[in-house]
Amino acid sequence: MWVLRQINVDIVGFTPECVDLSTVSCNLVHMTASIPLTSHPTAGTVLHGVPVVGGVQYAPVIRPGKLPSTDVGDTMPDLAEDRRAAENERFAAAAATVAGRLRERAAHATGAASEVLAATATLAQDRGWLGAAEKRIKEGTPAVRAVNGAIDQFIEMFTKLGGLMAERVTDLRDIRDRVVAELNGLPEPGVPLPDEPSILCAEDLAPADTAGLDPALVVALATTLGGPTSHTAIIARQLGIPCVVAVAGLDDVPAGAMVLVDGTRGTVTVGPDEVSAREAVAEAKRAAETAAQWSGPGVTADGHAVAVLANVQDGAAARAARQTPAEGVGLFRTELCFLNSDTEPAVDEQATIYSEVLEAFAGNKVVIRTLDAGSDKPLKFAGHPDEANPALGVRGVRIAANNPGLLDRQLEAIAAAGQRTGNPPWVMAPMIATAEEAKSFADRARTHGLTPGVMIEVPAAALLADRILEHVDFLSIGTNDLAQYTMAADRMSAELATLTDPWQPAVLALVAMTVNAGAAAGKPVGVCGEAAADPLLACVLTGFGVTSLSAAAAAVQAVGAKLAQVTLQQCRDAAEAVLRTASAADARAVAMSVLG
Ligand code: PEP
Ligand code: MG
Repeated sequence: MWVLRQINVDIVGFTPECVDLSTVSCNLVHMTASIPLTSHPTAGTVLHGVPVVGGVQYAPVIRPGKLPSTDVGDTMPDLAEDRRAAENERFAAAAATVAGRLRERAAHATGAASEVLAATATLAQDRGWLGAAEKRIKEGTPAVRAVNGAIDQFIEMFTKLGGLMAERVTDLRDIRDRVVAELNGLPEPGVPLPDEPSILCAEDLAPADTAGLDPALVVALATTLGGPTSHTAIIARQLGIPCVVAVAGLDDVPAGAMVLVDGTRGTVTVGPDEVSAREAVAEAKRAAETAAQWSGPGVTADGHAVAVLANVQDGAAARAARQTPAEGVGLFRTELCFLNSDTEPAVDEQATIYSEVLEAFAGNKVVIRTLDAGSDKPLKFAGHPDEANPALGVRGVRIAANNPGLLDRQLEAIAAAGQRTGNPPWVMAPMIATAEEAKSFADRARTHGLTPGVMIEVPAAALLADRILEHVDFLSIGTNDLAQYTMAADRMSAELATLTDPWQPAVLALVAMTVNAGAAAGKPVGVCGEAAADPLLACVLTGFGVTSLSAAAAAVQAVGAKLAQVTLQQCRDAAEAVLRTASAADARAVAMSVLG
């Protein structure tokens, strides 16, 4: 069974190269070859990407180590019958060693890093690909060739399936490289351990590599691929280091070049002026220190209140979020609790899980989202149909139609958790597209005594927000999907990351429209997509009139601190200005000029 659920990326195909860049200070790490100077950006070149974790760092570039060639042993002739069993044992031992090492690292890591390492370890021991490799070995194929063949087979299958499965292709390659390295007696591929603070630049990063990073030595991340919700971004957030993804031209920046990574603006400056680079780092550090002082509640400098809430996925995450000044939970992604469940959890079991989150935020607002299953988050018990375009298919609230009772049982569990904990939650449905769907959900939620709302993540719902609000008590804007569906761009596609940027003016126009509908109806409208985790954008959203901002716990203080520095009028001016722009970059630039 394929259980890996993390977004996973790798470093396949990357050959580290370095050159004596005469124009930049060069501290060469892992230099393996020289390439002509002309192929590198000149000093002062500013590369643009998608900012995912704020902060500024200036340091030399390191690149992931060269991968062992996967074709070592690939030309070996077929094995005689009497050698096949031993070869199979050698293969099983290599796979077990790789899994064991990953498990060991998982045990010493915490949070998302630990989960990622454990998931990769599970994949290394997955019966599916192990069986396919064993079959080949038993037929006489040497182990390295068998591993390559088996993994290629699954890569092809997953690529055809698309969506989340296609993303797992990179996990498979990562496992293949580790097992092949082990079979060939080579060190495992991965990120070099730098001997000074460095900035890790890569085409993309394997989760098993990023999960083990030491933030004291790897002080920022920049990748050519990856989106705001990519695995690199998730780990960078956990490590608290600046991160920019989808950086065009990054592949041409060699190891050793000094770069300035600005995770707030989304830029990588190659060979900047050293004095101004160090000043930019110091200024960002001061801003981070200010953020660390922020203790809530969410309010602008002139006293306009906007609740700053946390996004969580289980009790542990809620307890961690409680350590921040978050005033409650704006999004509890319940489907993430059940990604590995083969059968629907009983009402009582669900109630216990939901209670943990309600208990962690006793006396505070908690918004529980009903299962957002399907597309990139399939649930085994939801009986998803085979679909050509699962992101446009039966996902979110739409699964209720084919699963009689599933939604009602979840609402029953949520209501029971509210009673058990004495903290009655709000409840909302994902992927609402019509007012009729909103009414049907609200009716059912009220039957269970719950306060109903819906997510606005489909442009149709934003356009008809006023009519949806006739049925529900609140709205919560999911900017991740709203951007995906507005821009017709897969949110997981690295190539399309600039389109799925929540600063896209078209997305912001729909957000503004939704918020206006909420204001006219006198009902709260929050934002719980990644947009709310961007301090600058959070101010713009406040200018639109949102009543709450719900972000990853790691982003809560930065958002709250930024809000505290600006007035409501500044937020409104920035909101008005972004709606007049024609590009995400311009929207960001005008907001920055108004909000500082
Ligand atoms: C969103 O789409 O913005 C959202 C918050 O939901 P998810 O990221 O879980 O799809
Ligand atoms: Mg969504």
